[in-house]
Amino acid sequence: MRVAIVTVGDELLVGDTMNTNAAWLGERLDERGVDIERVVTLPDRVADIARVVNEYRAEYDAVVVTGGLGPTHDDKTMEGVAAAFGREVVESQAVLDWLTESGGYTADDLAEGTADIPEGSRLLKNPEGVAPGCVVGSVYVLPGVPSEMKAMFETVADEFAGEVQHVASVVADEPESALIDRIADLREEFDVTVGSYPGDSVRLKLQGAEDEVEAAAAWLRERVALAGPE
Ligand code: ATP
Ligand code: MG
Repeated sequence: MRVAIVTVGDELLVGDTMNTNAAWLGERLDERGVDIERVVTLPDRVADIARVVNEYRAEYDAVVVTGGLGPTHDDKTMEGVAAAFGREVVESQAVLDWLTESGGYTADDLAEGTADIPEGSRLLKNPEGVAPGCVVGSVYVLPGVPSEMKAMFETVADEFAGEVQHVASVVADEPESALIDRIADLREEFDVTVGSYPGDSVRLKLQGAEDEVEAAAAWLRERVALAGPE
């Protein structure tokens, strides 16, 4: 399963808020064996959201959108996602029922627009807040508040599945450039994908079938200067 992650919010673009939702979703989807093909951040602007969501829903098996759900002036996500499908946002009876029954709100308490989701979408209840999420076609719309986003994602996590790969890491205490030939030999010898992540040391991430990955990791550990424990 190939998935795109779309995070919405002006504050993410300028670094006012760290985009922890993208990192968290990437990790959770990867654990489930899903291939994450895109992570993009968009401004709170209907046309941008509509254009990107429309492109990605055609290209990928699912799109996960977070942020910009509330009824305030700067929350444009529901409108943008609806526009990606050529639909309107409409007040949803399912949302009203959920907010009045479980949230303890009366319809009059709710700010205008609180119950609006794209026409024909499935409600995702918010276990931690009042902003509803929804699913339209293959597009999952989740809140921006990290605790709410996580809780809502868990309610649909089972809808995301793929082939889980085995992973092993080898941390080398050598310059990345010095490792090039050994990495090339490793890739020739074993059927694994190799990621190389330099920092203070170089983390080599091996992925593939379990036996192959473990054999490759053992081969590599014999041939590089291993970084000691921190
Ligand atoms: P609400 O209904 O409460 O308005 P929302 O779904 O509309 O929530 P936003 O208004 O976009 O969400 O953001 C709510 C809070 O969550 C903000 O403080 C925002 O900075 C933070 N937030 C939004 N997106 C992310 C993200 N990708 N990673 C981390 N924090 C985020
Ligand atoms: Mg926002």
